Amino acid sequence: MRKAIVTYARSLFDRGFVVGSAGNISVKVEDGTFLSTPTGSSFGSLTEEEISHFDQSGTLLGGKPPTKEIFFHLACYEVHPGIRAVVHLHSTYSTLLASVQGLGDGMPIRPFTPYFVMKVGAVGVLPYRKPGDHRIADDVREKRDYDTLLMANHGLIVCRSSLKDAVEETAKLWYLGEKLAIRYLDESEIEELRP
Ligand code: ZN
Repeated sequence: MRKAIVTYARSLFDRGFVVGSAGNISVKVEDGTFLSTPTGSSFGSLTEEEISHFDQSGTLLGGKPPTKEIFFHLACYEVHPGIRAVVHLHSTYSTLLASVQGLGDGMPIRPFTPYFVMKVGAVGVLPYRKPGDHRIADDVREKRDYDTLLMANHGLIVCRSSLKDAVEETAKLWYLGEKLAIRYLDESEIEELRP
């Protein structure tokens, strides 16, 4: 499992998801404990020994101390008991989208691709908090209806790790298409795509 995190972090780094200050990844282990990327780590050069191992209360069981943003990961596991991993990124396009004024829960972007409706579907928007603010955990609890979250002026939290590509790709399309005369999907086209 430690090796899996190292490999995954490396692949995120190689694919350009990690820019500036890194985000963080955590995984729930079978015995109910957690592994995560350590504080101040670079996704490109993590080692298995550095990976943090801790319990539900955040008590360190092995490795380096976990990322200081781990408390909102734990809130994600608390409100979505079925999930196995949480990924938090400051990736370029998702962070840009998260910084737009007046974003609302649901579909923050008017959908113009089936991919967006099918993969992302519903996104919750969390208010701005300064890094390390423990109220982010309460924000996650409050938006428990959403497992994909945009944190205003900060970045992205996905409770199903496979979704981060979908969100980043959609945010990129939104940004690139902003000045174009986009034909948006109409209500019936959106409805047809819903699971
Ligand atoms: Zn962050």
